[in-house]
Amino acid sequence: MDPKQRQFSIWYMFIALWVLILIQTFLPSLFNPTEIPYSEFKSSVEANKVTEVTVSPQVIHGKMKEDKVFHTIRIEDPDLLRSLAQHQVKVTGMIESTLFRDLLSWILPIVLFFGVWWFLLRRMGQSQGFMTVGQSKAKIYMEKEVKVTFADVAGVDEAKEELEEIIEFLKTPEKFRRLGGKIPKGILLVGPPGTGKTLLAKAVAGEAGVPFFSISGSEFVEMFVGVGAARVRDLFEQAKSKAPCIIFIDELDALGKARGVGPMAHEEREQTLNQLLVEMDGFDSRAGVILMAATNRPEILDPALLRPGRFDRQVLVDRPDKIGRLAILKVHARSITLADPADLETIAAMTPGFVGADLANVLNEAALLAVRRNKDAVGMSELQEAVERVVGGLEKKNRVLNQMERARVAHHEIGHALVAMSIPGGDAVHKISIIPRGIAALGYTMQLPTEDRFLMTESELKNRIAILLGGRAAEEVIYGEVSTGAQDDLRKATDIAKSMIKAYGMSEKLGQVSLERDRQSIFLQTGPSQTPGDYSEQTSREIDCEVRLLIDEQYERARDLIKAQEATLRHVAQALLEKETITGEELKALAAAQ
Ligand code: ADP
Ligand code: ZN
Repeated sequence: MDPKQRQFSIWYMFIALWVLILIQTFLPSLFNPTEIPYSEFKSSVEANKVTEVTVSPQVIHGKMKEDKVFHTIRIEDPDLLRSLAQHQVKVTGMIESTLFRDLLSWILPIVLFFGVWWFLLRRMGQSQGFMTVGQSKAKIYMEKEVKVTFADVAGVDEAKEELEEIIEFLKTPEKFRRLGGKIPKGILLVGPPGTGKTLLAKAVAGEAGVPFFSISGSEFVEMFVGVGAARVRDLFEQAKSKAPCIIFIDELDALGKARGVGPMAHEEREQTLNQLLVEMDGFDSRAGVILMAATNRPEILDPALLRPGRFDRQVLVDRPDKIGRLAILKVHARSITLADPADLETIAAMTPGFVGADLANVLNEAALLAVRRNKDAVGMSELQEAVERVVGGLEKKNRVLNQMERARVAHHEIGHALVAMSIPGGDAVHKISIIPRGIAALGYTMQLPTEDRFLMTESELKNRIAILLGGRAAEEVIYGEVSTGAQDDLRKATDIAKSMIKAYGMSEKLGQVSLERDRQSIFLQTGPSQTPGDYSEQTSREIDCEVRLLIDEQYERARDLIKAQEATLRHVAQALLEKETITGEELKALAAAQ
């Protein structure tokens, strides 16, 4: 039960309690509507108004003239009988039975109370009574019949090829057993998030027609010691009984981080990991259980996981290239009516760096836009807008910048664009916008690479840095002062500069050495690397100096380029302020007109 739910149930218990108290107070008078004070009863007797009474140990019931019924609580009164006799009242005795009233006034509220409680507990999640607090939240998902096939996964042909053999084995394990072929136990799918690793594992199960068990490594992390290990045992137990089948562990890195790293070795994770290793060693893949796992950070995995007989085969699932992107778009466009199928090629060309999940998202957004606009087919305008949305988060037209801020953002963005335009061989500027998108980006300049790149030269990397710094340089030229708006640009520029010096050996002073082992190429960058390099403090200081030098140099360059075109900058920024977005062509025309 999460805290919110608990709070919720406490509230309801309060209400139930309150209802109970109300019932306690008012029930008796509800059933006894004509109670009168004893004194009034006495005076009525004196006044000869009472005709008959029934006396019980606690209560006196009676009738007045005109048949009015009443009762009163009996008070110790030795004179009562005499007084009744004096005024000719007919008296009957009675042994009072309060059982029925007791039942109503005590048992009913209690029953009601528990009833309400039980009802609420049931409503708060069928399986989540308070008895399950503290149990594992790592769920094992099992799909008996997987509908996903290789036809649903595109752009990862090499990975598919490598997995063919596994499918073959799962389909006819007897054949492999007879021939004694060696089948890997564990396959590690490596690649950035959203590239389709889960989808691929599922498709293997789908193609082979075997059950698919899945569990996520990150769900193990905050559990109590011992629970995770039990879960792992449970998972393998279940899988073995359903062999042949596939076990898929998503986010293996969350669970399989190298042991003993970090300030606090995580005992639970360690136990869970150990259990996983034990299970992997304990089963024979020929029994028909194949373990697959996904990670985007194979370098931080515990080496024990990668040893022979464990995850000894790695399959790379990388970001798709242009052809791959087109194939993925086609897969997801199957359920969408397109105005012109050729549009997908343009979109594939526009989206280098996008992964499968992003592309699926683009088509989904585009379809929603078309519906909103009452169109019968998804056209280029929807597709383009969807790409922009996915790039920069949702368009937030209602987010208002004040006039000063808008002007600054406009000059900043034109700064990027002008530097990009002035650098020979740079990527063409596609679009500049000052419509805020998402929280971080106040504006953006979109460049369209003419092709996918896998190698970059030193000067190209330097150009990138200069373009990134162009925004801030423009602010300095126009306002004589910089702002906080360039934080993201600075971070990216610093990352590139660091990679150049530490990983690509592009610094004269430090020479042709790569000081960073585990860094992926910057095309695959998933964030700053956290592995400390094994170099001296002296070198570390030199790296910092070199990074600074490189960035200062490029900043100078950007500023000089912009100073030379200050008039154009002011002019184009004015146009941008009016129109909010301008295209690359418009920018060229405006610049040429100067
Ligand atoms: P990962 O496990 O690598 O993070 P997923 O497999 O969860 O990525 O992908 C998320 C979604 O993105 C999938 O369900 C699918 O709709 C889409 N997707 C990702 N990659 C591909 C691909 N190569 N082909 C088709 N769809 C893809
Ligand atoms: Zn910027």
